[in-house]
Amino acid sequence: MQFAEDEMWGAVVDCDDNYDGRFLYAVKTVGVYCRPSCKSRTPLRKNVCYFETQENAQNAGFRPCKRCRPDLTDYVPVLEIARQTKELIDGYYCQREQLIREMKQLGVTTNHLAVIFKQQYGVPPIQYINRLRAEQVKKMLTETDMSIIDIAGDIGFDSLPAFYSFFKRQTGTTPKKYRGGAIGGGK
Ligand SMILES: [Zn+2]
Repeated sequence: MQFAEDEMWGAVVDCDDNYDGRFLYAVKTVGVYCRPSCKSRTPLRKNVCYFETQENAQNAGFRPCKRCRPDLTDYVPVLEIARQTKELIDGYYCQREQLIREMKQLGVTTNHLAVIFKQQYGVPPIQYINRLRAEQVKKMLTETDMSIIDIAGDIGFDSLPAFYSFFKRQTGTTPKKYRGGAIGGGK
């Protein structure tokens, strides 16, 4: 075995998908084997055994779990997860808490999600979110006469200094200058 029992048990308890494809666990009392990420109820530790391959698990008399389908190797629909993530971000990029909650529902760890997302869209989710937010702020600055504090609040910043440093990082200028420049420049 590649991993110590403690580590594998930890992965089972946490439903850690980073271990998917690296080992399988089986539950003796029910006769099925699962991916580490399986969301079924955590079995009793004493009833669990571990396998490196499906073949080993099947030879030992276990069936694949109907829920996590360890027998379908490409079951984790990576593209689908990336697409759903993007959809969530597009919908909730100004509502951080809501976004985090929704992303948790996808059942993938944040790290894993970042990798999947980057593979698909070329940037990590956080960068994509920040880009959307910056674009939205620019729009509000030039197309509305909302105050900067209202814009900051609207885009999900509780603190004005945090908003300023965010904007500066994204655009290289301050909200005021950006707004003034856009008006003065006769855009
Ligand atoms: Zn399962």
